[in-house]
Amino acid sequence: MMSSVRSPLGNRTILAAAFGLAVLAGLAARPAAAEERAKDLFGAEKLPAATSAQSIGFYSKGCFAGGVAIPMDGPTWEVMRPSRNRRWGHPAMIALIEKLSRDAAADGWPGLLIGDISQPRGGPMMTGHASHQIGLDADIWLTPMPGRPLSMAQRESMSATLMVDEKTHLVKDALWTPQHTNLLKRAASYPEVERILVNPGIKKKLCDTVKGDRSWLRKIRPFWGHDYHFHMRIGCQPGSPNCKAQETTPGDDGCGKPLAWWFTEQPWRPNKNPDAPKARDLMTMANLPRECRAVLDAPGPASVEAATYHGGAVPVAVAAPEPEAPSVPATTASGTAGLPASMNAFTATPEIGIPLPRPRPEN
Ligand SMILES: [Zn+2]
Repeated sequence: MMSSVRSPLGNRTILAAAFGLAVLAGLAARPAAAEERAKDLFGAEKLPAATSAQSIGFYSKGCFAGGVAIPMDGPTWEVMRPSRNRRWGHPAMIALIEKLSRDAAADGWPGLLIGDISQPRGGPMMTGHASHQIGLDADIWLTPMPGRPLSMAQRESMSATLMVDEKTHLVKDALWTPQHTNLLKRAASYPEVERILVNPGIKKKLCDTVKGDRSWLRKIRPFWGHDYHFHMRIGCQPGSPNCKAQETTPGDDGCGKPLAWWFTEQPWRPNKNPDAPKARDLMTMANLPRECRAVLDAPGPASVEAATYHGGAVPVAVAAPEPEAPSVPATTASGTAGLPASMNAFTATPEIGIPLPRPRPEN
């Protein structure tokens, strides 16, 4: 999920709701809370919490412990934008990305360029995504890995290929290949993967061209942005009692009415208030599950390398106590009332504010 979300609700409604809920969360009664913006605290973490792996909260409102880093390079992948330090995830997520890279290579995709996964301890980010907070989301470029290794400088500067015409919202046919389809099909084939977010134009291309087994299209969900990368989301993993699952996707291929909505004018109306604060700008520690404080406070491993995933057993560099047992529900009611059914690509919008539109995702 990117922050390029446009809400069909009026911005005034959103702001009013965000303010009201922030007050409810005790923000107004605690002047010091402004110093505890969750994105500042989680954005400053350089290493994971060295405990057993656990996702806490929801994709757009949570954190995780026991994260591991995907190595910067593998035989079939390269990590992009390494300076962001967002190559961390739940070990199951990292293992799955590596597996996808191998399977995709066997299918004829040269290798994965890996975009953002999560910060070392998850949580909201200073820039970009609304989700990616619990180590179970990953962005993968729709540009294949080039034939020769990318330098670290190239990984910072190389542009991704925009696959979709911004005026028509249709895929650029000169760029789309059967290998793109196969890559998405392979990603959707894993039982752990619950949804894959793509630009509506990409969803339409698949709807129009996939023959034979179309059952996997159910997992491919249209969303704003996602025109140079796709977003792979896996479900809550064992050992994460406080991980809040998302709604299951409808059983059909999603090629009917919900997709048609994206090709109306409504989803693309310009944002009337582009400078309105985003959810991540408002979130304090009080808005996150209580256990996320323990995640922040937990000791880290000795080094990045000690928490880098090399297959097999998950490294736990430091024996540290588990984050506290739950005493409060990880999240409360979602705020999706009034959103069209197609917004269900990303259920349970954080109640402190619906992510607001941006012209272009920040990665
Ligand atoms: Zn994403």
